[in-house]
Order: sequence, then C-alpha cells, then structure tokens
Amino acid sequence: SIHKDLEEKIARFHQREDAILYASCFDANAGIFEALLTPEDAVLSDELNHASIIDGIRLCKANKYRYKHMDMQDLEAKLKEAQKHRLRLVATDGAFSMDGDIAPLREICQLAQKYDALVFIDECHATGFLGPNGRGTDELLGVMDKVTIINSTLGKALGGAAGGYTTGPKPLIDLLRQRSRPYLFSNSLPPAVVGCASKALDLLMESNAIAQSMAAKTQRFRTKMTAAGFTISGKDHPICPVMLGDARLASVMAEDMLNRGIYVIGFSYPVVPKGKARIRVQISAVHSDEDIDRCVEAFTEVGRKHGALP
Ligand code: PLP
Repeated sequence: SIHKDLEEKIARFHQREDAILYASCFDANAGIFEALLTPEDAVLSDELNHASIIDGIRLCKANKYRYKHMDMQDLEAKLKEAQKHRLRLVATDGAFSMDGDIAPLREICQLAQKYDALVFIDECHATGFLGPNGRGTDELLGVMDKVTIINSTLGKALGGAAGGYTTGPKPLIDLLRQRSRPYLFSNSLPPAVVGCASKALDLLMESNAIAQSMAAKTQRFRTKMTAAGFTISGKDHPICPVMLGDARLASVMAEDMLNRGIYVIGFSYPVVPKGKARIRVQISAVHSDEDIDRCVEAFTEVGRKHGALP
C-alpha cells in the first residue's frame, strides 16, 4: 500500500492522472519506448539526451530521428519528415546536466501541436526544484498541460538515492503495468526508499519555500561567480558548470577546492567535448548563503592561484 500511495502522490505532485514506480529512472526510460511505440511510429530525440533515454529508444522498433541539441528548426524538419508515421513522440531531457541548460519546452510543445506529436520529458534534473513550486521544467515554462509524459527520479533532489517513475495519462500507465519489462521483471523499490520519497514530496507540497530558496541560492551563486570573472554555463539552473576549458586546470582546481572543504567535481573529455573542461557545482537546498559565499571566495582564490582569473 505504501507503493500505491506514493504513486498517487507523484501523480498529484505533477498534476497528472496516474504514475508507476520503477527501481530507477534508468529503468523507467528503458521501459517506456518499447511499450508505447511500434514499427509504425516515430520517436524524435535531442542528440544530447541522457544515456538511459538513448538506450530506451534503442530497445524499441519505432523509426528514430535525432535532432540537433535544442535546435527547433531541425526538430521541425524532422517532424515534417516523420508525418508519414502513425504516431510521433518528441523526447527530451527537461534540463541537461552537463551544461545546466533548459529545453525550450514552449517551442517544443508548439511544434508538437502543429505536427500532431506527443511530448516526453525526463525531469531528473528538474523535479523538486525547478519552477515556482518545484514541479519541474514544465511548470517553470508554463506548459504543464502540454507535456504528455514525465519520467523522473527519486534519487536526486527527492533524496532517496534510488527510485524512478513515469507519470502521465492513466491509459499509458495501465499499458506500462502490462508491458514495461523493467516493471514486470524486476523488484520494486525497498520500503525505506518509498517512505523517504513520500516524505520529500510531502515537504514540497506543504509549501514552496524549498523550491523558492533554491532559485534564490542559484541566483546568488551564479551572479557572484560571474562578477568574480568566471563563466557559468546554462541559465537559472542549480547545476552551475564553471567553464575552464583546460582539462588539467579543471582537475587541479577541483582538487584544491576539495582541500578547502568544498566538494566539486572536474569534468573533461570524454564526458564533455574536448577543450570544454569544467567544474560542476551543484547548489543544494541545505546550503546557506554563507556556504555559497565561502564557495565563491574559494573559487576566486583557487582561480587566481592557477591562472584562471587575472
Ligand atoms: N535521466 C537523467 C537525465 C539522469 O541524469 C539520470 C541519472 O543520472 C537518469 C535518467 C537515471 O536516473 P536513476 O539514477 O534514477 O536511474
């Protein structure tokens, strides 16, 4: 019963009809495309979508189109090409974690309407903190009623370290219960994880204070870092990639930050393109303003020491 209660709570949180739990969002992504799409259908996927979406799409027999990252002209061209198929599904991350950028969902939904397509978003990097009430990218961009399917994780902002789900129209969720292989052929979530996620959703639904504080903290960090002379990729997202370019610089600076008690990770090729090394900072609801200021000070010191700042 606690699993059923959590499914109902997730659907309520996202203002959708129903939800289905998985052991992870990787499983939710692995299970949806094959269950929903046939060889008569088409799926249109952003080229930088998460690996689990790519793998999920690989498992299905639908016709596959890959559009350039957040490129609406290319998406429109591919939607035109895909008119010959029975059903079209546009699949995108709501927020992309490597660059902290947010999918142009308003434009995607407009195109989907024009070319009779469904919209699927992966909200792992949005659920619980993007939008005025933390509902996610669709709330942030005012398209909650236009996105058909949401997959997300209980293992990031919702704090349980595991668990995933699909939420959307009831007939879709009913279909997944009958046909989705990671749901049918694997155990469900451990009860302790269910309890934790359920409590996290209660906190978010009781008040929007946490979501609002995330937006304010994110803005504080991004503004102060930019003023200090750093380039932060993306916009308004608590994932703040500090762009450094050089792989060695990113690695030694991250190490120095760690020595100062600040846990940040350097990313370089092949995780990100060559010459685009960065340190990814993630703002959390438990950070205080003092924590954020201390982090900016440490970055400034370390940046000067290693020549990233004048
Ligand atoms: N989708 C995105 C965009 C992710 O970033 C991740 C995790 O890194 C997943 C799916 C998989 O989520 P989970 O850890 O719940 O399997």
